Amino acid sequence: MENLELAIQEIKQEMPGLELRENEPMAARCSFRIGGPVRALAAPQDVTGLTKLCYLLKKHELAPYILGNGTNILFPDEGLCDLFILSTEKLTNMFLLPDGAIYAEAGVSLSKLASFAQQNGLAGLEFASGIPGSVGGGLVMNAGAYGGELKDAVESVVIDFLPEQAMYELTNEQCAFSYRKSLFQKMPGCVILSAVFRLEKGDPDAIAERMRNFNARRRAKQPLDLPSAGSAFKRPEGAFAAQLIEEAGLKGYTVGGAQVSEKHAGFVVNLGGASSHDVYDLMMHVRKTVYEHSSIVLEPEMILLPPDYKLEDHGPQVPLHRIWGAGAEE
Ligand SMILES: Cc1cc2nc3c(=O)[nH]c(=O)nc-3n(C[C@H](O)[C@H](O)[C@H](O)COP(=O)(O)OP(=O)(O)OC[C@H]3O[C@@H](n4cnc5c(N)ncnc54)[C@H](O)[C@@H]3O)c2cc1C
Repeated sequence: MENLELAIQEIKQEMPGLELRENEPMAARCSFRIGGPVRALAAPQDVTGLTKLCYLLKKHELAPYILGNGTNILFPDEGLCDLFILSTEKLTNMFLLPDGAIYAEAGVSLSKLASFAQQNGLAGLEFASGIPGSVGGGLVMNAGAYGGELKDAVESVVIDFLPEQAMYELTNEQCAFSYRKSLFQKMPGCVILSAVFRLEKGDPDAIAERMRNFNARRRAKQPLDLPSAGSAFKRPEGAFAAQLIEEAGLKGYTVGGAQVSEKHAGFVVNLGGASSHDVYDLMMHVRKTVYEHSSIVLEPEMILLPPDYKLEDHGPQVPLHRIWGAGAEE
């Protein structure tokens, strides 16, 4: 807390041109439309600014929290006494490399990346055109849909790794991608700066048609008219979260302003005015009931903040795979 205030003072002195918004409400910054203020939200101009900011934080023994499009996060109503770095406002360069691969900075949206690939006759990112996240957030989560995942398209990723004050270029294999997982989830202090995507050549019209098809399926099945953070739970091995939730009789189950979507039981939606506690309580009830019904433990897909939220208070007594902060698993 004290460190953060000192860091904010130094950041203001050392980086006078930096856009630094203090006590910024996060409800406006995330797709769930839930969340109180964070102490500060910084939007660096470019990769150099981001790196300088990270190093100033490191000097005060603070790690930055990076925010992409905020489409996979639940922020607490009480707010957070942390500095967040917004990657999506300025880090948005994208171009074709001489060898035909695509270079994209962390803040590029996945839909823009998919459209750029289509316009250049490159196939393999059609699945990503309807995912509302950014390249950085997408790589952290290894976002995927309709049989595709970012891991199938990414060749390398450049990161700034604060603990070592160093930048690394990681190959696809080094990123250790698997279903909704990546190495980055286990690397506190890692900031994704950019990535290179290597795709197959394809017919632009056929690629566009596949994108339209996926997006039509999305619109037909998902509650896109209501705020959410996408799928609330990961797909357990050999089963589907939405089906388990429906079979447990929870479709439409409501706590305050949060509801298990009536359109797609895998989504938790904000009906209007939902608090983070409504969502937490609803998710914990779903976990408990599904566990009682099918003995399967559902693991949240979205990131619940703060990271030390105590799941044990909400039974069943099963651990949550923690991906952020001290004690992160695996
Ligand atoms: C309507 C809807 C539909 C969705 N459909 C899908 C889907 O089909 N498939 C799917 O996989 N997901 C889906 N999602 C979830 C979400 O869009 C993805 O997980 C997406 O990849 C998150 O990207 P983001 O930029 O919003 O990340 P954020 O939510 O902002 O952040 C996610 C995590 O990544 C970290 N992070 C973000 N940027 C960086 C960076 N540059 N460096 C280091 N860490 C970073 C954050 O700190 C956080 O831990 C959906 C969400 C919604 C709301």
